[in-house]
Amino acid sequence: MREKLDAFILCKMWLGGWRMNIHEYQGKEILKQYGVVVPNGKVAFTVSEAVEAAKELDTNVYVVKAQIHAGGRGKAGGVKIAKNLDEVRTYAQEILGKVLVTHQTGPEGKEVKRLLIEEGCDIQKEYYVGLVVDRNTNRVVMMASEEGGTEIEEVAEKTPEKIFKEVIDPAVGLLPFQARKLAFSINIPSKLVNKAVKFMMGLYQAFVDKDCSIAEINPLVVTGDGNVMALDAKLNFDSNALYRHQDVMKLRDLDEEDPKEIEASNYDLNYIALGGNIGCMVNGAGLAMATMDIIKFYGGEPANFLDVGGGATAEKVTAAFKLILSDENVKGIFINIFGGIMKCDVIAEGVVEAAKQVSLDRPLVVRLEGTNVDLGKKILNESGLNIVAAESMADGAEKIVSLVK
Ligand code: ADP
Ligand code: MG
Repeated sequence: MREKLDAFILCKMWLGGWRMNIHEYQGKEILKQYGVVVPNGKVAFTVSEAVEAAKELDTNVYVVKAQIHAGGRGKAGGVKIAKNLDEVRTYAQEILGKVLVTHQTGPEGKEVKRLLIEEGCDIQKEYYVGLVVDRNTNRVVMMASEEGGTEIEEVAEKTPEKIFKEVIDPAVGLLPFQARKLAFSINIPSKLVNKAVKFMMGLYQAFVDKDCSIAEINPLVVTGDGNVMALDAKLNFDSNALYRHQDVMKLRDLDEEDPKEIEASNYDLNYIALGGNIGCMVNGAGLAMATMDIIKFYGGEPANFLDVGGGATAEKVTAAFKLILSDENVKGIFINIFGGIMKCDVIAEGVVEAAKQVSLDRPLVVRLEGTNVDLGKKILNESGLNIVAAESMADGAEKIVSLVK
């Protein structure tokens, strides 16, 4: 868990923000523009739209697919094959509004608000193809496997020899021979290798043009009529590049995001909700990580990771403080600020303002150090707020842990 979290936070830190996710049907629309073959299909928000969408398809097998920002839908009952329009209606009724719980949604699951109605295809075999930014080689890497359809994490763990990789030189991009090598390695039927190469080249071009951080096709399929197609599509985007992709930005579905994380992104705060009960407000991702570690060291559990950043304003600090308080699990707050670029008095003003706006009913421990520290402490002392001052980081962590117990 901690390892996963670290990787996630480090990733956010490096990216300096969040990763944007989109729905499968939106990903397929983008890929189509790059010559990647996908089944014909259409999004539907209601049962009648689902039936209308199916009528427009020239097929006698339909697939009704839940659109949520998580994989594992098939196993959770979110992907159904329908043989006629009545079955499309029945499955659409069943899936729309349902809360799907998959291995990627967490136990609370996600409510389905959109469906993709698409042509069913005659699958001969399922494969996996994905593009990621690999931190070991500092390159984009294309991965491919014959073990499609199943979770790639599982393949990586149990049979890593079944995953093939090509490291891509950014100066020349993915070269056709690399794509061919991958296609042969995963045993794409030889007469379809050219189509698979075209598929991979298109996928790579989409990844680069749209500034993706992940592009994953699981499964890529070979069909009975000799096509190479993407049956699923997961695209994530680097948030730092979204300013130059207004088209992608428009695809953001706020229903799929944690409201607290949306609020955080509005104020440009790096916030991640976690499971514990001690709210943390810290500046700098490194200090935020260290603060979480020290809370754990004293037997507590952080409720969030929150980096207010360097040049935060009082307004931003107010937003951050409110964000922490909006989490019902938070039983106490630890503010740990080392004011370098950030000034301690600005932090103090923000905290006092926020505490005034939302009645602060939980213990608050503050450790301030750095620029304008005396002024900061003075503002807090004169605020009338019930604040426990800490002399050091360890002292603060110990105090908040004992206060929430
Ligand atoms: P998830 O990864 O969330 O489970 P997928 O889109 O990968 O969802 O679908 C799960 C499985 O359903 C696929 O591995 C494939 O076997 C089947 N499937 C999905 N779309 C189609 C389709 N258009 N035609 C036939 N089978 C499909
Ligand atoms: Mg899939």
